[in-house]
Amino acid sequence: MNPANPSEVLGTTPNSGAGEIRQAVDAAAAALPEWRALPPAERGAVLMRAADIIEERGEELARLMAREVGKPMTESRMEVPRAAAIFRYYGSEGWRMPGMMPPSTRPGVQVSSVREPLGVVALITPWNFPLAIPAWKLAPALICGNTVVIKPATQAALNAAALIRALEDAGLPAGVVNLVSGPGGTAGDALVTDPRVRGISFTGSTAVGLSIQERAVGKKVQLEMGGKNPYVVMEDADLKDAAAKVAYGAFGYAGQKCTASSRAIVVEEVYEEFIRELLEAAGSYKPVDPLEEEGTVGPVVDEKQYESILEAIETAKREGRGVLDGGATGSKDDGYYISPVIVADVDNRSTTAQEEIFGPVLAVIKAQDFDHAVELANDTRYGLTAGIATRSLRYASEFTARSESGLVNVNLPTAGLEFQVPFGGNKASGVGGREQGPAALDFYSSWKTVSVLPL
Ligand code: NAP
Repeated sequence: MNPANPSEVLGTTPNSGAGEIRQAVDAAAAALPEWRALPPAERGAVLMRAADIIEERGEELARLMAREVGKPMTESRMEVPRAAAIFRYYGSEGWRMPGMMPPSTRPGVQVSSVREPLGVVALITPWNFPLAIPAWKLAPALICGNTVVIKPATQAALNAAALIRALEDAGLPAGVVNLVSGPGGTAGDALVTDPRVRGISFTGSTAVGLSIQERAVGKKVQLEMGGKNPYVVMEDADLKDAAAKVAYGAFGYAGQKCTASSRAIVVEEVYEEFIRELLEAAGSYKPVDPLEEEGTVGPVVDEKQYESILEAIETAKREGRGVLDGGATGSKDDGYYISPVIVADVDNRSTTAQEEIFGPVLAVIKAQDFDHAVELANDTRYGLTAGIATRSLRYASEFTARSESGLVNVNLPTAGLEFQVPFGGNKASGVGGREQGPAALDFYSSWKTVSVLPL
């Protein structure tokens, strides 16, 4: 379905039930022995070819992303090469696959440790990064020698299918990656509880993530979940720059990023001046058709999300001082468009400051000083990403040390990441090891230590 034009059906996908999920796991289990036995460099060669194919199909993939999930073309065109780069990064790991062979403490003994795949792994992905997130789970899973059943979000199933097609065209053997579709409550549940699935990597909401943890008894589980990300603005900051970064983090892609800045925490000395700069910066985030060349905000992904954001806006207006009065731009039949909302003087313990909205809604919160700002930034059940705007080395280094988030940025938007370094959150934002970079190999493999005494 196209969120910019809800009457347009872009495609249909099967509604997999327990039977289909079982077949997918059967296929993954059958393909496992041959795939894990392949030298890692040969597995890597498939990923490298997939990267080339993704790039060749770049414009087609970016347009599909814009149409299926409403991501503006400016961002869709960045996500496609990122997905390709992720496949190249892990493809090249095939030449390294680091193991260890330290000197033994026992005379004559040779001790070594090697990485082994987990076996069949389940990947459950959200709709908001419909190529990059599946890519950053698939690539490390495959290079480590696992076989996969992947269940993308229903809203982004066509994007996932296009990605898997690139892997197939790159020569991935049949059964190594198996795509299933269908609602999380049935398809997802059958996958999570299948005893042959040894590992689960999930990205999505905290509620679903925690429910998976309860059901995935005895499996290795990695959960990347929600956020309520703070951006602290100190009195010595470049306020124009800080406002631009907060606006980008809060309103780009209509705030539908786990790393979105949803709380601006501003020290009182520059509070009103910052709000003036913020209003100016927010002016460039007007929702437009995602296929428009220069757009930065498209529609929100579907009707359910649209209604829930509008409800959160009503709550926010009751809980704070509305300084930018956005909201629905017209009838939802013409697309799920919501323009940015800024609410000031929000209490950090209010619903608006504590619950993830996943839409273009920013709460501005006043802090007395640096220590109070740090306290407010950490005062949430989430811990994904946090930012600070400051020119002071002391503020910057103290903030990075005291922040409870997994990703901390100084003078950079909370939204925005690099794929060669570990990514993930703490508290209710993340459980079970980091994604991306070398850390991902640790999730998708287990160490086998072998000790030999040659006789
Ligand atoms: P979601 O509703 O939790 O869905 C995520 C995935 O889980 C989808 O594939 C969904 O399938 C599936 N699912 C739903 N119920 C399930 C169940 N009972 N058992 C197994 N699987 C189930 O999240 P979303 O709306 O797609 O994505 C938005 C959320 O993702 C936000 O909270 C955001 O912060 C978070 N997110 C986090 C990160 C991160 O790295 N921390 C990155 C991006 C997004 P269906 O959709 O088909 O039901």
